[in-house]
Amino acid sequence: MSLEPETFKSLVRAAAERVIASAAELTALDQAIGDGDHGSNMKRGFEAVLGKLDTIGTQPLDEAFKTIGETLVMTVGGASGPLYGSFFLAAGEALSCKQLPDDLAEVFASGVGAVSARGRSQPGEKTMLDVLFPVLETLKADAGHPELVQRVRTTASEAVARTAPMQATKGRASFLGARSVGHIDPGARSSCVLLHAVCETLEARQ
Ligand code: ADP
Ligand code: MG
Repeated sequence: MSLEPETFKSLVRAAAERVIASAAELTALDQAIGDGDHGSNMKRGFEAVLGKLDTIGTQPLDEAFKTIGETLVMTVGGASGPLYGSFFLAAGEALSCKQLPDDLAEVFASGVGAVSARGRSQPGEKTMLDVLFPVLETLKADAGHPELVQRVRTTASEAVARTAPMQATKGRASFLGARSVGHIDPGARSSCVLLHAVCETLEARQ
């Protein structure tokens, strides 16, 4: 099996449009425990990705991921730009010798590993990794399962909710110490928004 270019393009479009539409929500979350720029950072980055969608759609998958990664590094800014950028750059690197959808868990693992290395962060620190890591676990545990997409969607929602009681120990929210407790992490939410857009687009095609 291989991922058709048109399908890939529609997934990128859906993810970008959904995160752009969520800018106000992401900003509100970042106003509570950060500096209130996560929505505008993500909006700027994914508008730039949308602007390159035609190019991305004609590139081999590994190159397309690298284009997305480079675009996010150059345009998102903040802590999240280099982190999301690293995810796509590393996933693109992995795709030079792996295939989608067959090697999805391994490709996703490369992206998650790059975020962790770049951010010097681990799950449990109230960051985007608290969504990305559980989703990776689901991708590994349920690879090939007919309900994989639905399970990823549920994993992501539940993982976002679990960031609320956490105390942030990485990123800007860590400056708040115990006052970061009780709020959802903005980056965890944006990861969930991106993943939900991909899952829902795939579900609509099933
Ligand atoms: P900034 O914090 O520089 O204003 P953003 O607001 O765009 O950047 O992004 C904040 C999000 O980035 C956080 O909610 C968190 O999910 C993520 N983040 C910050 N630092 C790290 C890190 N070291 N590792 C993983 N994710 C991080
Ligand atoms: Mg911020």
